[in-house]
Amino acid sequence: MIAFEDALKIVQDAVYYEMSTERISIHNSLNRVLAKDIVSDLNMPPFPKSAMDGYAICYEDLKNEWEVLEVIAAGQQPEKPIGKNQCSKIMTGAMMPEGADCVIKVEETEELKNAKVRFTEKDTKRNFVPMGDDVKVNDLVLKKGTLLNAQHIAVAAAVGYDSPRVYKKVRVGVISTGDELVEPHLVPGPSQIRNSNAYQLVAQLQKMNVSPLYFGIARDTEESTTKVITKAIDECDVVLLSGGVSMGDFDFIPKIFDDLGVEIKFKEISVQPGKPSVFGVLKNKFIFGLPGNPVSSYNIFEILAKPLIYKMMGCDYKPAEIRLPMAKEYNRKRSGRKSFLPVKIEDGKIWPIEYHGSAHIFALTEANAWISIPVGVSTLNEGEIVDVRQI
Ligand code: AMP
Ligand code: MG
Repeated sequence: MIAFEDALKIVQDAVYYEMSTERISIHNSLNRVLAKDIVSDLNMPPFPKSAMDGYAICYEDLKNEWEVLEVIAAGQQPEKPIGKNQCSKIMTGAMMPEGADCVIKVEETEELKNAKVRFTEKDTKRNFVPMGDDVKVNDLVLKKGTLLNAQHIAVAAAVGYDSPRVYKKVRVGVISTGDELVEPHLVPGPSQIRNSNAYQLVAQLQKMNVSPLYFGIARDTEESTTKVITKAIDECDVVLLSGGVSMGDFDFIPKIFDDLGVEIKFKEISVQPGKPSVFGVLKNKFIFGLPGNPVSSYNIFEILAKPLIYKMMGCDYKPAEIRLPMAKEYNRKRSGRKSFLPVKIEDGKIWPIEYHGSAHIFALTEANAWISIPVGVSTLNEGEIVDVRQI
């Protein structure tokens, strides 16, 4: 049995290549990983830009009355330079006219009977953004390896990258194992349950914008399981199996991995839930034997499979972690393993939820985060600060 931190290192170190790259439409780029630095092809703003709806003037004329020369809409080029005691009405985002160095908010002005305009307050900010204030031509705006979220996509669009180069998606295969499993559309027989893991894993992968291939349920015979695994390894870069990895009479996965020549990197991790987790490498393919219980499968996917898949796509993935106080005391019976516990964040505090263990999939619907409890710690006191990972 190895420590979680060692398992994570083994998984990450196993990735010695990155996926090849492709150019894709910006429309489909959410959650893809950038394969090339992006530099700006322009200054932002590309011209001195009004930050307000108002009047563009020379600041030194602030206390005077101004003659209005023209109205400048966004997207329109000003025609008249601003001279002494002159102004142009200007809209937010429009180009400043020559000679102007200040925009007076429309709410801080009044129109006079003689058609001139004056300032009604004591002082003002300049209310315009100089050319290149945010970004200059050739500035590095997005780094290779960036996981593209909406705000990154906005930047790519602003600097003209409508088809960014990204890493190809990892092809991930999902297999369930177990004679007790039936698919969700069926009514389980007396000794059966529905397959929930496969759909959970598919959804976890879809959240990463990885398109999984689902290979169905392998029956608990060496032959059936070997057949499905062989097909999945053939067609995928990563294979995620669930079930069949514990110590039962029909838990063949470690043996099948051996027979197929999969180099097993670990078979057990000192985490809870998810101890019986197998990770193996076959040539340039990666295979996880995830625990059958759905909460364990969820957890091991998040803490180990996800970083592996991201690394293959050129992204050094680190979940956003925060530290929050416990709303009440929490005790666990054994403290020999690092524990990951589903919890609820509410009012800035961590609330343990009713959780019966790794088969209690219904508990997870209440949870919006996980906390980790270090090896050797069995009590978390009220108010104690804990490490939290949002889900
Ligand atoms: P195993 O690792 O195959 O011994 O499975 C451990 C537990 O997880 C057993 O109670 C299984 O019935 C359950 N289990 C295995 N696979 C799934 C699945 N795909 N969906 C829901 N429960 C499962
Ligand atoms: Mg099983």
